[in-house]
Amino acid sequence: MPVAVPPEQHLDLTRRRGYLFGCLGAAVAYGVLSIDGWAAGDWRPLVGMAVCSLLILTVLDRRITLQRLDGLLGLASDFGALFMLWSVFHNAGPFSAQTMLMFSIFLVVWFGVRAFRAAVIRAALLCAGILLIGLLRQPPEPIPVLYFVFLAFLVGQMTFAGRQIRQEASARAHYADLALTDPLTGLLNRRALYETLQAHYTRQASASRPAPDGGGKGWRAPGRRETRPGKTGGGETGLGVLLLDLDHFKTINDSYGHDIGDRVLQHVAGVLEGCAAPGDQVARWGGEEFLILVSTSERSALEQRCHRILAALRTIHSGLPPVTLSIGMAHASEAPDVDSLLRLADRRLYRAKRDGRDRMNKDTLLNL
Ligand code: GH3
Ligand code: MG
Ligand code: MG
Repeated sequence: MPVAVPPEQHLDLTRRRGYLFGCLGAAVAYGVLSIDGWAAGDWRPLVGMAVCSLLILTVLDRRITLQRLDGLLGLASDFGALFMLWSVFHNAGPFSAQTMLMFSIFLVVWFGVRAFRAAVIRAALLCAGILLIGLLRQPPEPIPVLYFVFLAFLVGQMTFAGRQIRQEASARAHYADLALTDPLTGLLNRRALYETLQAHYTRQASASRPAPDGGGKGWRAPGRRETRPGKTGGGETGLGVLLLDLDHFKTINDSYGHDIGDRVLQHVAGVLEGCAAPGDQVARWGGEEFLILVSTSERSALEQRCHRILAALRTIHSGLPPVTLSIGMAHASEAPDVDSLLRLADRRLYRAKRDGRDRMNKDTLLNL
């Protein structure tokens, strides 16, 4: 079962890549400038290239969080801007391409990583500094200064818009996450798992569409031998579901109160996650019911998971009232669609309850 990268993580990755390409671009630009600069005895482009190279190494280091990177880049730009003003003040010649480059980089970084107000203040101070230096020069240089101001406005606008897009994407990702999460237990909710199940059947259906040579393989009637165990068409791994329902949970609520009932649900959620293997997905299906998707083509793996859960609940002492659960187990190869699969798991769960609870059922007589 493919494990999706959470949207938040994806955004962080995109940002990190953005920083990397930005620093790489700046390092290359400084490298080009340092060829001329070196001949003229100007060592500043080399310093710029060294700083950018250091930043590249920092961005590549995954131990450094994005917040830290933001802080570092912001600080590097603050000092860089002061250094730039100092060097422009002490150089009599016209504003150089390097000054333009540094000016643009500082603006992009400030508007990218600092609060909008802080970025505007820094940009305004830098523009004022350049303006003063430009007008004090003999002869004064009003045109390049106007260019700097225009550039500041443009970069401010663009980076601010980009930042807003990023914030909106992050908020969307957050709400999408909320829409798929159960607030009490923090597990996935019914919608999330239902979508995963449907996606599985859709993939399987497209993989089983008859190939030109007449091949293809879809739902297999119960009892028939599978020709390629472990895989369904298109290399898809099989999928099983465990539908779990707490036993006599109403009694826990009635005897200990609803709050303790909630804590029991949270505790059970933790136990289920502890019993899950990598690739399994655990959801609160509703009320005191849970559903686990197990990515396997082996029914024995499903059974093992059931026994592990039943044993864990019996042995773990959490200071909460003891609780057991019943499980209905079904495999996707036994049902042609999601709803039939869930109905089958539900029938087996009901049978497990009838047989005395605290057990699993995989009764093939209950097949569709
Ligand atoms: P059985 O073994 O047959 O499943 O019995 P049961 O008591 O578990 O089942 P029943 O359907 O009679 O009761 C389910 C109870 O679960 C009733 C309901 O109040 C409780 N419940 C559902 N959602 C929550 C919740 O979020 N918190 C708490 N504390 N209780 C809940
Ligand atoms: Mg129930
Ligand atoms: Mg119950």
